[in-house]
Amino acid sequence: MNDTVRAVPDADPTELIEAQAARTPHATAVLFEGQHLTYATLNARANRLARALVARGAGPETLVAVSLPRSLDLPVALLAVLKTGAGYVPLDPDYPAERVRYILDDARPALLLDADRLAATEAEGAGLPGADLTDAERLAPLRPAHPAYTIYTSGSTGRPKGVLITRRNMLNFLSFMADRFPLTARDRLLAVTTVAFDIAVVELYLPLMTGAGVVVAPRDTVIDPARLGALATASGATVLQATPSLWQALTAEQPDAVRGLRMLVGGEALPPSLASAMTALGAEVTNLYGPTETTVWSSTLRLEDAGVLPSIGGPVWNTSLYVLDDRLRPSDEGELYIGGEGLARGYRGRPGLSAERFVADPFGAPGARMYRTGDLARRRADGDIDYLGRVDHQVKIRGFRIELGEIESVLAAHPAVAQVACVAREDRPGSPLLAAYVVPAAGEAAPGTAGLRELAARSLPDYMVPAAFVTLDRFPLTPNGKLDRSALPAPDLAATTTGRAPRTPHEELLAGLFAEVLSLPSVGIDDDFFALGGHSLLATRLVSRVRTALGVELAVRTVFEAPTVAALTERLGDAETARPAVRPAVRPARIPLSSAQRRLWFLNRLENRNAAYNLPYALRLRGVVDREALRSALGDVVARHESLRTVFPEEGGVPWQEVLEGVRLELPVVEVGEGELEGVLSAAAGRGFDLGCEVPVRAELFVLGAEDQVLL
Ligand code: AMP
Repeated sequence: MNDTVRAVPDADPTELIEAQAARTPHATAVLFEGQHLTYATLNARANRLARALVARGAGPETLVAVSLPRSLDLPVALLAVLKTGAGYVPLDPDYPAERVRYILDDARPALLLDADRLAATEAEGAGLPGADLTDAERLAPLRPAHPAYTIYTSGSTGRPKGVLITRRNMLNFLSFMADRFPLTARDRLLAVTTVAFDIAVVELYLPLMTGAGVVVAPRDTVIDPARLGALATASGATVLQATPSLWQALTAEQPDAVRGLRMLVGGEALPPSLASAMTALGAEVTNLYGPTETTVWSSTLRLEDAGVLPSIGGPVWNTSLYVLDDRLRPSDEGELYIGGEGLARGYRGRPGLSAERFVADPFGAPGARMYRTGDLARRRADGDIDYLGRVDHQVKIRGFRIELGEIESVLAAHPAVAQVACVAREDRPGSPLLAAYVVPAAGEAAPGTAGLRELAARSLPDYMVPAAFVTLDRFPLTPNGKLDRSALPAPDLAATTTGRAPRTPHEELLAGLFAEVLSLPSVGIDDDFFALGGHSLLATRLVSRVRTALGVELAVRTVFEAPTVAALTERLGDAETARPAVRPAVRPARIPLSSAQRRLWFLNRLENRNAAYNLPYALRLRGVVDREALRSALGDVVARHESLRTVFPEEGGVPWQEVLEGVRLELPVVEVGEGELEGVLSAAAGRGFDLGCEVPVRAELFVLGAEDQVLL
């Protein structure tokens, strides 16, 4: 399975984009809010800017920090830096000043390009030639081992670390991607990821190497599924890469906008239920896995259904995946190591840490290294890899990579804190959050939540600021005296509310919606939505509840700007009036089909019980199952939801909705052997429905033994 050797072109990544610009100069390369750049304009602008950057000292083996908002200028600036031969250090303009200062101190870039400096440098380059740069103009000849970019990721000892990716790394990766995901001039990739996260490399350069267009989504749009869905539709997007968290919001709230897209998903474990929703909607779904240290993605899995999860598939070109035990011997289950062309040069200025994580590869050529991922893995019978979790305290929250140790060391700097522990918890399913626990120093009063939060927010990006702070007299310990993380109490978010009561009917209503969305008994009007465990996805939910309840269209961004009930109430006045709230109507004798139902019905008639719209879900149940209780629980769900007991009878070719009452959901029981299970399941999952007379849900129990069964 590690037989992945493939020849890649002998070129710099920028040359592939230059060749494309020469092939299709007039094609659209980048789109942003109604403006666009052709390939010729993008390339010429980047060339002029590159010449001006060279004059200011950018060249091979130097770095240029880039801190720009999402815009047409962003790809121009990144491409220009690459053309000089320098590597770029992407900075998210939303990072707190202290973090930016730390990164600049550590990376020591030759230049910093923010919006002002970009404008000034472009002005300097305005009279320079627009032709492609050559080595003769660069400060030194460009080599494959020179940096392409350096991305900072969370560091367990409290200091973020810069991963240094070379041009060769980038070329190998992009060559693989262009082969695996061929794009054409008709494709539009909707780019949603901050360039401070390495997966944005796919979004920017894959289309530009292949003649497709990049649609740069504005930041406000990315955090608002309704707007993002509208942009996907309006821009004619055909490809979208995102983390599972973003896909979750899109498939749930904007299924029609993402239907038929080629879907790339990765950055954290893919939940099976999301995989099912995606495979039902997407033209092609691929699960991608990889650490920043091995260049964006190291393995891929084309997903036909959720049954193969937790597989992350097999390696990309010129890459080896090893599952090794603690003595570095191949093993069926163990830690995942990655070798090959994707390996970063190391962490910038951190030889010790680099040596710890990039170790000698005993299976590779002499001198080869492999990266120790910290991921637990299992080798499947077909050679692919299953992802099983982490061996350390690195967590992912909504796709962001976080070392809990980094947060702990920031909080430990508080003078009143003796001990601190941070954990990621998921007390509310689907809403993971960070909780910090502190033990006050002897003789000190408990440090207040506000002070701790401020300390964290000063140097950590917002996704790393804990949602809950809990003060304990002492930490729970395991029998051998270590901190027992599993015994840390669930934070009581309700206790942190200030409790100032609503003063007006609007405040009353908003306070109710805050509490509902945050799953809290009540919320005071001065309580910060985000301090109570809110995050961007919950903010989306809040906006949609406000739309329904008040008929007011708030932007998700407004919740970030005015995160309390009191402040948000004031912003209701200037919000746009939403489409009229949905109200119950009197039902006609024959309820017509909605347009989505009509499409389903049409395809069902056309293709005779086609299973394309099936959403199969298989659940392994171990232990004794009370079949009657299970059947009646499923029956309750069907009784609760009309759409699960609606059939579409027709007369003269005109269908209507008939909502059945008193439907009894059967639970057929089938005995099968383990060997036949897969075949039987996929046959059952592939069986379509006759929408004219069958309710659109069914359940079957496949029994393998007295205490082993699969519910489909
Ligand atoms: P990052 O460096 O931010 O890309 O984070 C890399 C880590 O994210 C990996 O070591 C895994 O723990 C996790 N990860 C990334 N992609 C996947 C995936 N498709 N499935 C499971 N975990 C993933």
